[in-house]
Formats: sequence, structure tokens, C-alpha cells
Amino acid sequence: MLKVLLSDIQIKDAVKRLAAEVMENHPDGVLLVGVLKGAFVFLADLLREFPADYNVSVDFVQVSSYSGTESTGLVKFLKDIDQPIEGRDVILVEDIVDTGLTLQRLYEIFLARHPKTLEVMVLLDKKERRQVDVPIHYTGFVIPDEFVIGYGLDYNERFRNLPYVGVYEGE
Ligand code: 5GP
Repeated sequence: MLKVLLSDIQIKDAVKRLAAEVMENHPDGVLLVGVLKGAFVFLADLLREFPADYNVSVDFVQVSSYSGTESTGLVKFLKDIDQPIEGRDVILVEDIVDTGLTLQRLYEIFLARHPKTLEVMVLLDKKERRQVDVPIHYTGFVIPDEFVIGYGLDYNERFRNLPYVGVYEGE
């Protein structure tokens, strides 16, 4: 059973707003770094909101959490980006932030590579679940503490295909 939390129209509006905020803050362009797999749908839509004369490029990281990550915040890189980021305006793009441990670790790793600026964008923020203070510069939606799926987010690798964000309530 699925309950729609955010419709495709609500998401599209938010994505447009986020792209406009990025262009205002970074008129000379940005490198968007998507966190796989969940962020790929969001990033694909976000990317297409930028006009041809705007300098935007894309790269990806993939991370997995070691077991016990909830308490330690250890993050294992499965895939790193393909290019240096020194001196560049970089935005980490995540689908959802929950405890904040994954993003906090990624933020530290990327900061150590000396970008000119480093910011974080999340489509969904489960604010009440946060355990660590991670800077978030762009937020699509603050959502309640429920397990969500769709628009790139999965439950056991299913439901990434949904054009909306829903709450999964079991079979
Ligand atoms: P954090 O490190 O902030 O606790 O966890 C972030 C990661 O947990 C996200 O990238 C995502 O993979 C997963 N996650 C957290 N909440 C949800 C949720 O409601 N639905 C899904 N599908 N994944 C979630």
C-alpha cells in the first residue's frame, strides 16, 4: 500500500526553485555531485532546469554504510567522482537526509579536497531524525519521520520508478 506524500507537480515546482537558488548563488556555474543510487532521478530533473548558457556539470559518488553505521558514521566509497574539485563550486546532491551521518562524512571528505565552495542539497529532510549537525543549504521538503519511496528512493530496490514520493505502508 502506498500513500502519496508529494505529487509529481509539487516535486517539479521544488526542483525549479532549487535550480533558481543555485544559479543565484553561483552565477559562474557549479559541479553537482549526486549520491547514488537514490539521487539519480532528482539530479536528472534538476539538471534539466538549467539553461544552455549556464555552466553546470555532473558527477556521482556511491557510498554504502558499514553495518553499525548508525552509531559510527562510517561510510565506504563504492564509487568516487572522476575529476578534481579543487577551486570549484561543488554541491553534494542527496535524495534524503535522515540521521545526517552519511552526508556529514561525505561533506568532510569533499571539504578535504579544497573546493572553492561546498554546499549540500537534499530533496527530502527528515529533520526530527537528525543525530549530527550537517550544513544543508538547499532543501526541497521537510517531511515527517516515515519511510518514503519513489522518485529514486527504494524499498529493497523497488519503487524507484514512481514519479511521486509515497509512504510505504507494507504489502
Ligand atoms: P542518514 O545517513 O542521513 O541517516 O541516511 C541517509 C540515507 O538513508 C539516504 O541516502 C537513504 O539511502 C536512506 N534513507 C533514509 N530514510 C529513508 C527513507 O525514508 N526511504 C528510503 N528509501 N531511504 C531512506
